[in-house]
Amino acid sequence: MTVEQILEKLVSFPVLGGESNLEIIHWIQSYINSYDIKTTLVPNADGNKASLHCRIGPASDGGVILSGHTDVVPVDGQEWTSDPFILTEKGDGKLYGRGACDMKGFLATCLAALPEMVKAELIKPIYFAFSYDEEIGCLAAPELAQCILSHYTETPKYAIIGEPSSLEPIIGQKGIYILETYVNGTAGHSSRIRQEVSAIHEAARLVLWLEEKMNRLIEAGRLDDRFHPPHTSLHIGLFNGGIAPNVIANKASFYWDVRAIPMDDVSEIRDEFEAHCRQRETELRSIFPQFKIETVENHPPVPPLDTREDTDVVELIKRLSGNSKLNTVAFAAEAGQFAEAGFQSVICGPGSIAQAHRADEFIAIDQLHKGVAFLHRLIKELSSSNFS
Ligand SMILES: [Zn+2]
Repeated sequence: MTVEQILEKLVSFPVLGGESNLEIIHWIQSYINSYDIKTTLVPNADGNKASLHCRIGPASDGGVILSGHTDVVPVDGQEWTSDPFILTEKGDGKLYGRGACDMKGFLATCLAALPEMVKAELIKPIYFAFSYDEEIGCLAAPELAQCILSHYTETPKYAIIGEPSSLEPIIGQKGIYILETYVNGTAGHSSRIRQEVSAIHEAARLVLWLEEKMNRLIEAGRLDDRFHPPHTSLHIGLFNGGIAPNVIANKASFYWDVRAIPMDDVSEIRDEFEAHCRQRETELRSIFPQFKIETVENHPPVPPLDTREDTDVVELIKRLSGNSKLNTVAFAAEAGQFAEAGFQSVICGPGSIAQAHRADEFIAIDQLHKGVAFLHRLIKELSSSNFS
């Protein structure tokens, strides 16, 4: 199958983050198996989703993991001019479809290059590591990375995460943490604002505390110029509470995210926030004993990627991509999780992130072919006895 045909097939599986990915993963599995490569599935607890890993080449240390996710984001409310789950060519050198860019394009290049990988006399192996539920918080990658470490007798050295980067190497990614905070106050007539505890007023104070916390980090010089913005950002994107202007709100809640530069620890920020909340509870319980502030994780923290310029993977990715300019990003990806598992990790994949997650998502055909050429260079590198 050509890379376009494979991409067409992959796009036809409308697997959103959170949904069962068994159909697409089984299709990928049988495709790989047809080249006599053994695959291993890593199912979730319910058995309705699975990641896949496999090795092509010898069982020797120092191989390269190619990582991608099989799920995509929803199309609800987006104005598509073609069916998002039918890969469509409109004669403008682009292939349109949900996931064409993020990141079934990369999966398609891996599968299209598989026959070459099998034929080559690889000295170091290549691994595929394909996950699910990336788009709802990078939920599957930590387990997948651990399974690769425990399953194989040898240890891979590198991980290339093929998120769309226009095939430019990305060596840094902010850590991301999404939280939900719920405030429980008392209801009452608005005139009694001094006797009751308004959940909205208290929640609003917490929002400002978080903004202040961000400012304190900046003032303390917690800056990393590789990122835009160069500091950890704290942001509240959703706020709920209240029923009427003349009723004190007994409930309020907000969702917030922390995008942390590698030097900042999201759990420390959370701990400081929690300590502040306990203090507010103590102060306000003299008015309302049940006053409570509760914060829960929307999903587990996604660790940052902080690959240093002098690591071997940076030289490798420069050679493979033909690109020596190194970038960083502020979006979530599995790269930090693979790095945490001990692999030297970078993000580099075909297609532009600007096309991801939007209506009429596309990948340029040229990018797709460059992606295959990128993998052919990897095969050549790994077939050379000079590779380390
Ligand atoms: Zn993605």
